[in-house]
Amino acid sequence: GYLALLFLCLFVIKSLSLLLSSPLRLNRRTSVNMRNFSVFERFSKAFQDHPSLTRILVVSTISGGGLIAYSEANASYGANGAALVETGTRKKKVVLLGTGWAGTSFLKNLNNSQYEVQIISPRNYFAFTPLLPSVTCGTVEARSVVEPIRNIGRKNVDTSYLEAECFKIDPASKKVFCRSKQGLSNGKKEFSVDYDYLVIATGAQSNTFNIPGVEENCHFLKEVEDAQKIRKTVIDLFERASLPELSDEERKRILHFVVVGGGPTGVEFAAELHDFVTEDLVSLYPRAKGSVRITLLEAADHILTMFDKRITEFAEEKFSRDGIDVKLGSMVTKVNEKDIAAKTKGGEVSSIPYGMIVWSTGIGTRPVIKDFMKQIGQGNRRALATDEWLRVEGCDSIYALGDCATINQRKVMEDVSAIFSKADKDKSGTLTLKEFQEAMDDICVRYPQVELYLKSKRMRGIADLLKEAETDDGSKKNIELKIEEFKSALSQVDSQVKFLPATAQVAAQQGAYLAKCFDRMEECEKNPEGPIRMRGEGRHRFRPFRYRHLGQFAPLGGEQTAAQLPGDWVSIGHSSQWLWYSVYASKQVSWRTRVLVVSDWMRRFIFGRDSSSI
Ligand code: FAD
Ligand code: MG
Repeated sequence: GYLALLFLCLFVIKSLSLLLSSPLRLNRRTSVNMRNFSVFERFSKAFQDHPSLTRILVVSTISGGGLIAYSEANASYGANGAALVETGTRKKKVVLLGTGWAGTSFLKNLNNSQYEVQIISPRNYFAFTPLLPSVTCGTVEARSVVEPIRNIGRKNVDTSYLEAECFKIDPASKKVFCRSKQGLSNGKKEFSVDYDYLVIATGAQSNTFNIPGVEENCHFLKEVEDAQKIRKTVIDLFERASLPELSDEERKRILHFVVVGGGPTGVEFAAELHDFVTEDLVSLYPRAKGSVRITLLEAADHILTMFDKRITEFAEEKFSRDGIDVKLGSMVTKVNEKDIAAKTKGGEVSSIPYGMIVWSTGIGTRPVIKDFMKQIGQGNRRALATDEWLRVEGCDSIYALGDCATINQRKVMEDVSAIFSKADKDKSGTLTLKEFQEAMDDICVRYPQVELYLKSKRMRGIADLLKEAETDDGSKKNIELKIEEFKSALSQVDSQVKFLPATAQVAAQQGAYLAKCFDRMEECEKNPEGPIRMRGEGRHRFRPFRYRHLGQFAPLGGEQTAAQLPGDWVSIGHSSQWLWYSVYASKQVSWRTRVLVVSDWMRRFIFGRDSSSI
């Protein structure tokens, strides 16, 4: 225990020192190699020379991660406990569609006994998707990354679960229509459920772009079952490649693994597979040696384009050192049973024989959401549009969050006249600096792009913004803006509107935010705490949703991870891998999965990965 704590302290200091120094270190291109030997570097050198020490350290570090997690762990999980408080009035019925990141986070955070929650999802568990690539190679077991949904939720909120898929939403009668895989008692499979509030968190599905043959011949990596199938297929292929009387050519085809899509998921899977092959399989399957090939096809000019350039560069270099063949600018045009056709930018089409393809090129809209969007006049969109409070536009009492939704940030220019007259308190027809300044807080809360714009232009405040707008004589001391000048001062701010990425981080924060809003619905009806309504009277009930980006990881294999933290801090290497272990241990939804994941990692360090084909 004490030893673990000691290592934990060392680990924290090490990570901090690394993070603090990384922006500087990485400005130099050679910086990935450590130059100055600090105490810690010497320390890690000792570990490199004695691999068994590394194992002990990593194991202790992970338990350290667990310790960090302990302090932030959420104490109250419970089964569907009966409601403790009855207020006399009927409970409001919240129907929650989906048990993914967004839905689960909503459920975990909702803490008001006046609601009863009806969860509907075809999947009766939550899955920790960031660890799915690890499941594909048995680094972590499938059951370690899932938590039954019936275990999640607070004791004082009445929840119940139905295993079914929603196929139609009817906002007029406030009903959702669902289909169960298993028949109901009367032999039917369909039923409907009423709601007072509907929370849509159905996520997205893999996107094939309608390329022929993808659906039939490729593996996807979206659900736990996908990861399990991939794991089994990899082992099956190695077994097949070891059978007698197989031509060399056929063996090479069977052992050619193709990954389509150079986003975080595709890259992580390729890296994980490479580790599995080199660390475990090659020694177990001597016949396979020399025949295994991993190819990554990416249509754009680089992989990991959503990350900092330094990370992209490092990843591409590492992959080429590892022998992973990264083919940039390759568009897949067709997939046949045994080969895949790809076109280069120049128009050259080549056909590549393969054993297995993992397709990971991004996400598309689920049919139920597409239909619903058509119904409510959003037919031409890719995801459900909501306002900044996550309410579906044009609907009453319907909320959408996570991958199935996007926030439609209100533009300043749409409201500019209303903002002007709200800010012009004395109704003089002009704005003084003081008037503008007083309105600024509300404007920034309602329109976050204003703040981003000031930041991007390195302006300290609105005074700078106004100077830009000054037309005639710049020497004016007592600024009074007319509406035209006000408009031109703000004309560029909407260029800073940001769309949120489809990530677990966004989904989880939205779930927690919405739960807080639900908890305080009545309270905030009486005492609204949002910004002033620019068109209309009074204030908005709640502050709009704000996303806080905490950084992003890209595991690259060989116990190396790239981490991009807020403020463009980049850190790449073994130390970020430790950070990755402890963050992912601490982010588990329950103590049960935390223990399972950590012990899987330990098992892997000690015994290697399991290659049984079950
Ligand atoms: P999901 O988590 O997909 O959940 C959707 C839920 O809705 C599921 O329970 C599903 O069963 C249910 N559902 C589907 N259809 C219906 C229906 N018709 N009716 C009712 N319920 C339905 N993000 C990160 O931030 N960091 C990462 O490291 C990361 N790694 C990833 C790795 C992989 C392999 C994958 C696939 C994704 C990863 N992501 C990561 C992205 C992240 O998983 C998604 O952004 C996140 O899951 C979105 O949450 P969600 O709740 O909107 O959807
Ligand atoms: Mg005035």
